[in-house]
Amino acid sequence: MGNMKKTIDEMNPYAGITPVQLAEAEREIIRQYDETLLARANFTPSLPDGPVRNQATFGDMVPPDSAADRLRLVESSIRLHSAYVENVHLAGTPTPSEPQCSPQELIQRVQEYAPALGLSAIAYTDIPQKFIFSGKTIPFSKAFLFTQAMDVGIFNTAPHVDVQVHVADIYGSLGSIANQMALFIRKSGYPAIPNPALAGSVLYPPLAAYAGLGYPGRNGLLISPDNGPCQRIGAVFVDLPVEVQHAENPHTWIDAFCQKCGKCIRKCPSGAIREIPEMRSNDRPSCTDYEKCSMEYKTSFSCGICVKVCPFTTGSYEKLKNRFF
Ligand code: SF4
Ligand code: SF4
Repeated sequence: MGNMKKTIDEMNPYAGITPVQLAEAEREIIRQYDETLLARANFTPSLPDGPVRNQATFGDMVPPDSAADRLRLVESSIRLHSAYVENVHLAGTPTPSEPQCSPQELIQRVQEYAPALGLSAIAYTDIPQKFIFSGKTIPFSKAFLFTQAMDVGIFNTAPHVDVQVHVADIYGSLGSIANQMALFIRKSGYPAIPNPALAGSVLYPPLAAYAGLGYPGRNGLLISPDNGPCQRIGAVFVDLPVEVQHAENPHTWIDAFCQKCGKCIRKCPSGAIREIPEMRSNDRPSCTDYEKCSMEYKTSFSCGICVKVCPFTTGSYEKLKNRFF
């Protein structure tokens, strides 16, 4: 009798799929999403000097040696792509025009629905054009912007492959949540289009700060009272005739805290976090050097150290604030 024991690679239905192919698949889905939005009437285009979106790092990654880890990375990527294919589908389907409730009531209902979807926080916001990625477009100029927590325990293992799998899972989860939220809004008779959480149309951290959800730290990530920087952000574009009320952002003190802290800068293995942010057009600071950061992914297939070491990841926002003042 021959040896019946199969290796994980032999059992893996995706064993032939390479990181480059996965990155190409993602680019193709996003290209279809962008094209679908461009085909809609009344879309808002980006400014000529809008932020430039970083390209996905996955294609440049050196796959891990372990066959089990390779399988997990491919599976998480496929889950993410499935959510995004549905984002594209919803972007291309007609939206209703018979409201079942007032727009104010809808905003309240969506905000009440958010915890059941597994979200930490949600805000209804307008979207200034300066936050739309160069070459992209958005279908409506308002959105529900929301955050989902990542697992601090998993980030404590950074730069382990578990972090990379988890981040892809959260992006996929936010893609699915955006689909569910868009369907919920459509059932109430209002237009809604989900945005892919990774590689979507808007620059999330400064937009989330504009919406009052938190403030960007020196690692370039949104820091919020709920999760510190250990979260990802998603959006559903909506067309509601309700003006957005912007209160003063209560989280701007984080900027002064970061100036004193600088831990992520010291601990970043590739020196990717800038001591002084580079100013881009539209007064937009660029905190990290993407090329340097992606080198880390190319060689060790994961990172997330700037999330792991941030005092806001494990510390209480309120305690850090009280101690700071
Ligand atoms: S993910 Fe890693 S390499 Fe990239 S900025 Fe954060 S600490 Fe630096
Ligand atoms: S580690 Fe320190 S400097 Fe970096 S984002 Fe967190 S608080 Fe700011």
